[in-house]
Amino acid sequence: MDPNALHNISYGMYIVASIDGKGRCNGQIANAAMQITSEPATIAVSINKNNLTHELINSSGVFSLSVLDESTPLAFIGRFGFRSGRTEDKFKGVNIKKIDSGCPVVLDNTIAYLAAKVVNKFDCFSHTVFLGEIVESAVIRSGKPMTYDYYHQVKRGTTPASAPTFLKSEMPGRKADVMQKYRCVVCNYVYDPAAGDPDGGIQPGTPFEKIPDTWVCPVCGADKSQFVKEE
Ligand code: FE
Repeated sequence: MDPNALHNISYGMYIVASIDGKGRCNGQIANAAMQITSEPATIAVSINKNNLTHELINSSGVFSLSVLDESTPLAFIGRFGFRSGRTEDKFKGVNIKKIDSGCPVVLDNTIAYLAAKVVNKFDCFSHTVFLGEIVESAVIRSGKPMTYDYYHQVKRGTTPASAPTFLKSEMPGRKADVMQKYRCVVCNYVYDPAAGDPDGGIQPGTPFEKIPDTWVCPVCGADKSQFVKEE
């Protein structure tokens, strides 16, 4: 098996959100989501069994899916992709709306959203695939949906080990350039001086040592002390 073959499958970048019977809400980044049928309109999402969002969808049988725009900052993706709703409220300071079922829908950086009720689910080893029938959907602004490839190639984002598409080959080991690259030990984001971190105010060509100490990892929010030289 060549795991690189799997890298040729296309995905999007979404936030899947849900609520439980006690009103607890959470959301997470999901890349494995797709429309399954049009009549009735259904979508499927693959969610890691260890994630809080999985627990919430199982409890309430509802979820929403927000389609993220290409301009979505890495920090926003990191908030929903590399943190746990068990230890912090990911929705703090984030624009959401609640639909009739109470299910939260993330509106920030969102082009369109779909809200669904679970009509079936499939046990898939580490993940559950939830099949949802759409109960509400809307386009809320014009934009270009971010693809998973764009996230990696242009935004230079990384993949958490809990994602359905995580491959061990994504672990560190890329060759160093002229300027030393540094890797975040929390999320494996690699700071490349040639690219800088424009979202975080760091111009291309800035060596890691020249970055202000207030700077944090654009993906997971870890501070500079969490970075090690990339071998
Ligand atoms: Fe990080």
